[in-house]
Amino acid sequence: MQPFQFTRATTPEQAIHAHAGAAARFVAGGTNLIDMMKLDVERPSTLIDINELQLSAITPTPGGGLHLGALSRNSEATHHPTVLRDYPVLSQAILSGASPQLRNMASTAGNLLQRTRCVYFRDTAFPCNKREPGSGCSAIEGFNRNLAILGTSKDCIATNPSDQNVALTALEATIHVQGPSGKRDIAIHDFYVVPGTTPQIETVLQPGDLITGVTLPPPRAGIRSVYLKLRDREAYEFALASAAVQLGTQGNRITFARVALGGVGTKPWRSLEAERALEGHSVDLATFRHAAQEAIREAHPQSENAFKVDLSQRCLVRALTLATKSA
Ligand SMILES: Cc1cc2nc3c(=O)[nH]c(=O)nc-3n(C[C@H](O)[C@H](O)[C@H](O)COP(=O)(O)OP(=O)(O)OC[C@H]3O[C@@H](n4cnc5c(N)ncnc54)[C@H](O)[C@@H]3O)c2cc1C
Ligand code: SF4
Repeated sequence: MQPFQFTRATTPEQAIHAHAGAAARFVAGGTNLIDMMKLDVERPSTLIDINELQLSAITPTPGGGLHLGALSRNSEATHHPTVLRDYPVLSQAILSGASPQLRNMASTAGNLLQRTRCVYFRDTAFPCNKREPGSGCSAIEGFNRNLAILGTSKDCIATNPSDQNVALTALEATIHVQGPSGKRDIAIHDFYVVPGTTPQIETVLQPGDLITGVTLPPPRAGIRSVYLKLRDREAYEFALASAAVQLGTQGNRITFARVALGGVGTKPWRSLEAERALEGHSVDLATFRHAAQEAIREAHPQSENAFKVDLSQRCLVRALTLATKSA
């Protein structure tokens, strides 16, 4: 780990100012960033502790939604009564990840920005375009069992590892940002970018941008939601495939569907194709299977992860089945 300056900010303006012109990083729970620094993957010259900012609250919005402050901890969000009642998919997703101790530290914003678990990204002995642009991708001909099949490029096939972010995608969350050029709100669908030829760029954030919170839209009446995660072992493990769904039905017809996949995409993967294959169609296994095929139609598996094509379809079919049973 290289030496770095450490500073504490007490207002967003202070934090953003401290970031200017420096190879700086904000630190929240530190459960991802400090790991990356110990591995020498992240080498900030300045670390800005943002834990004293007043951004921890989880509050209802005037429009009937829910605002999660950037520094709200994953353990608070997952057990929050409104989340449990109106957004169970988010509670289930967060609970399926990490461990109780980690969730006590992990923040909503830090989770949004956690880095990939690609082993070559985390090991500076290997070339990695995401860590060192232009150096090559060790995973394409290497160990890629855990990596992505959707949104990949010839330069990077790393998976976005988060569970929280898959649920936030199905919920159509909005991310609030404050930066050197002011404030803006970004739909989560537009927040992450696929790697293309610049895998080092993962989001539309600009240097110095501080995430201040995330807003969930008002819950829709009668909607059921489910998060299902499949992994090598039942606890303390990242997803091989996961699915977050919101489903509304009237009689035997699907009136509303939101679908996001995890463990298979270079970003939390919203599937508009699956949503189209569901809405207006009947609630049955054939519809679910067709939607799952549509979700994965553009998959581009690698040497070791072709099994994810089948696994992610089964995961989505099962999640949809559970959503229709959990009324
Ligand atoms: C052993 C282990 C197992 C895990 N298992 C899972 C799992 O199964 N599923 C899962 O989803 N996650 C898992 N995680 C990841 C964990 O959820 C993340 O480490 C955590 O959410 C990161 O939050 P943090 O607040 O600690 O972020 P930090 O480490 O503080 O920050 C992460 C990044 O976000 C940036 N950042 C933080 N806050 C802001 C802000 N407000 N504005 C702008 N930038 C900001 C930081 O600069 C840094 O780049 C695991 C982690 C570990 C160590
Ligand atoms: S998949 Fe991406 S993160 Fe992994 S080695 Fe290749 S470029 Fe690096």
